[in-house]
Amino acid sequence: MGVRDLSWHARAAADVGGALGVDVNVGLSSADAAARLAADGKNALPETPPPSTLRVFLRQLKSPLIFLLLGAAVLALFIGERTDAAVIAVVVVANAVIGAFQEGRAERSLAALKRLTGKTARIVRDSHEVELDAADVVVGDVLVVGAGDAVAADARVIDHATLQVAEAALTGESVPVEKSAAPVDVDTPLAERTSMLFAGTYVAAGRARAVVVATGPRTEIGHIADLATSGEEPPTPLERRIARLGRVVIFLALALFVVVVVVGLLRNVPLHELFMVAVSQIVGLVPEGLPVAMTVALAVGVQRMAKRNAVVRRLAAVETLGSTTVICTDKTGTLTRNEMTATTLVLADGRVVDVEGTGYAPVGTLRLNARVLGADANGNVDDLDVDELLRALVLCNDASLLSPAEPDAPWRPLGDPTEVALVTLGMKAGLVPDELRRRHRRRAELPFDSDARLMATQHASVDGDDVVYVKGAPEAVLALCARARCGGDDVALDDAVRARVRDVPEALAARALRVLAVAVVRGGRIEGDVGFAALQGACLLGFVGEIDPPRDEVKEAIARCRAAGIRPIMVTGDHKVTGLAIARAIGLADDGDEAIDGRELAALDDVALLARLPRCSVFARVQPAQKLRIVTLLQAQHDVVAMTGDGVNDAPALVRADVGVAMGKSGTEVARDAAKIVLVDDNFATLVAAVEEGRVVYRNIKKAVLLLLSTSFAEVIILLGAMALGYPPPFHAVQILWNNLVTEGLITVNLIMEPPEGDEMGRPPIAPHEPLVDRAMILRMALIVPSIVVVTLGWMLWRTATGGAAEQVQTETFTLLALCEWFNVLNCRSATRSAFSMRLFANPWLLGGLLIGNALQALVVFTAPLQRVFRTVPFGVGEVVALGAVASVVLVVEELRKLILRRRRARP
Ligand code: ADP
Ligand code: MG
Repeated sequence: MGVRDLSWHARAAADVGGALGVDVNVGLSSADAAARLAADGKNALPETPPPSTLRVFLRQLKSPLIFLLLGAAVLALFIGERTDAAVIAVVVVANAVIGAFQEGRAERSLAALKRLTGKTARIVRDSHEVELDAADVVVGDVLVVGAGDAVAADARVIDHATLQVAEAALTGESVPVEKSAAPVDVDTPLAERTSMLFAGTYVAAGRARAVVVATGPRTEIGHIADLATSGEEPPTPLERRIARLGRVVIFLALALFVVVVVVGLLRNVPLHELFMVAVSQIVGLVPEGLPVAMTVALAVGVQRMAKRNAVVRRLAAVETLGSTTVICTDKTGTLTRNEMTATTLVLADGRVVDVEGTGYAPVGTLRLNARVLGADANGNVDDLDVDELLRALVLCNDASLLSPAEPDAPWRPLGDPTEVALVTLGMKAGLVPDELRRRHRRRAELPFDSDARLMATQHASVDGDDVVYVKGAPEAVLALCARARCGGDDVALDDAVRARVRDVPEALAARALRVLAVAVVRGGRIEGDVGFAALQGACLLGFVGEIDPPRDEVKEAIARCRAAGIRPIMVTGDHKVTGLAIARAIGLADDGDEAIDGRELAALDDVALLARLPRCSVFARVQPAQKLRIVTLLQAQHDVVAMTGDGVNDAPALVRADVGVAMGKSGTEVARDAAKIVLVDDNFATLVAAVEEGRVVYRNIKKAVLLLLSTSFAEVIILLGAMALGYPPPFHAVQILWNNLVTEGLITVNLIMEPPEGDEMGRPPIAPHEPLVDRAMILRMALIVPSIVVVTLGWMLWRTATGGAAEQVQTETFTLLALCEWFNVLNCRSATRSAFSMRLFANPWLLGGLLIGNALQALVVFTAPLQRVFRTVPFGVGEVVALGAVASVVLVVEELRKLILRRRRARP
């Protein structure tokens, strides 16, 4: 749009639509919106482009080791070893290519991730409310926002209900700001423009409609957004540990460098040869491939999790998930399907109405005792009390139910399932929600508040006086009530009546129903600045119980979770008895387990709560702030906590938890931004799957570390051993380089791609500070390293003793070492399972790496030009077979160890 006007905040709300060419009740037409989008461009801030391939490639060379190598190349040139210099250069380049390829792989999957976490916006288009990609919002669109939504573009408020917006991202102000449609002065500073919504901020409470006045780079945040700051992630704890391991190894390598040089000098190895060999060796020893392998491992984990519907927003979450010991989970929608059906109504006088039918389809009858209830031609249900109760439930309600698009298609719910169920209920009784809502226009509202657990709406009534309906958690509604509707009359809620209704909610909750109470305030007003307290003296209409069946896959997921040593805890806003009933049904709570509700929680001090924690599987009626306390307390006893959340107020707990988990479907944008992981399908089972993937990642990283360290150590020992025994270096410097940077580079990283072994969820969580190189790994190295050394060194000694020519022996030893490494990869695929029981094709990357590695090795040994470069001489088929057989000892030794281990485990 060509409209350039910077003073929207000062205009009257009624003028904005006209000025932007939109009827605010209808919204833009799709065609108009498309034209505007084409003219203005996407509603997105320009991003920093990803680094170019050349950049990524050059980044691989930015390592002290590479400089050392290049130094060696210069030295080689200086002393006339031109081919050596060339080889070093080629190997450095080849290594950088492999590194850049891996890094590119990681970056691509992380970029794909960014697309998955894109934002959406609710817009009125062609007089319908639709949800679309926030990038497609244009100037003139009518934006609809509610609590927890991110504001997609700068917009002028046109109507609202108790609107509060958190603008910290824009103004630094941490307290949410009240907004309204009233214009403000032209020269009001940005932070006080209360008639405007700004992109990048969040709605903290209330609802509003607003007309978009600026999108993309033309928004206020667009003006200040700094291109350079877009999302480099800090290293994850594991990445930092790997870096630390790297530093230890560098130190070790330098020490060994000195040892090699000293030993070599004592053995009269020519100085320039010695230097080349020593440099090659320390370069080989340093696991420079490991940090890249780590990033790839995490990125691959991210990809695998995405396939299983868990979107990772912070890389660190991948590894933390593997260590998770407690999962605090929501009930509604996560453990249950969030497909509510109202099954029971209890009137204030105690009469019970049973409702037939399941799902959202409005078919089924309402029965009061045996009598089927129905509506007359005017839409009045033939029992006055039931009639008013149902009206209240339909009017104090933001949801709707759309009739099927095709004859056999299902009815389409729109809005909060808790409320859709009430629309269905009303329709079953013969009410027509649209008409009812038209006849009793909503004059004002107090939107659902998850702290108060109440919502209220004010409506015009036929006799002129307005009525306010309030619905919410029974105890919250009852606290407001002074009267009750009994037999068509409002009677005082005296002790007798109170005693009758008091136990109703709990009785319903014990049947795993979610219970709501509803009340009316005749002549009530909630316009302007009033809270729920203004509804004191309300008249109770009755209760409704809704069933929300558990998800099918949840029972198994809970069992898997417990087998994996992870404790699931339910944290719900629902009633304690409802929560516990569902927890028992899905196996989350055992018979002896208890539930604690928000009020009891507030009364317990930390010590008392800690004492009860082990048996408490359900926290009910918790306030969002109490979630934070639960997380903190669990962490204090060294639990690693994953916590799910969906509401605006859940953000602090999500940030505090080790892994904050937000809901993709039902969650608010605020919760998603605070979380490290988003569950696309809101499903608990998805979270358990993500934990499994987290464990796979960690395990694969350990596999790669084992491979790298064991082969590197073996090489150094071979080199030192040979020289100590008075032999020349067993490999030429260029051979060492080739081996370390090409052979190893091709396989180590690919070990990261190993599929799960299947028993990941049958073992306890990874202790967060467990060393990467743990005892078990050291013990394995204590077997692997000697077997490689004995095989390789043994071959060299034997061939030299039987008169092999120096270059011939060197070529064979060099090839043998490569073969040992390949067998060792097979070792490293599992700590317990036989290499023969693992499908080679399950990891095509590894298979590919092995094939390429073999082919390249063959080229080096059997093609004349490379023979010259790598100082190799060819050998015959007999030697190939013999070398293979000898190298397989490395595999046999580990197979024996695994066999013994499995035998011992199998014994009772
Ligand atoms: P959870 O999502 O953990 O199950 P909520 O915070 O959504 O819990 O709901 C807590 C309680 O608030 C419910 O048990 C119900 O009594 C009440 N409630 C939920 N949704 C609504 C609503 N739309 N209107 C009125 N009351 C509601
Ligand atoms: Mg909820």
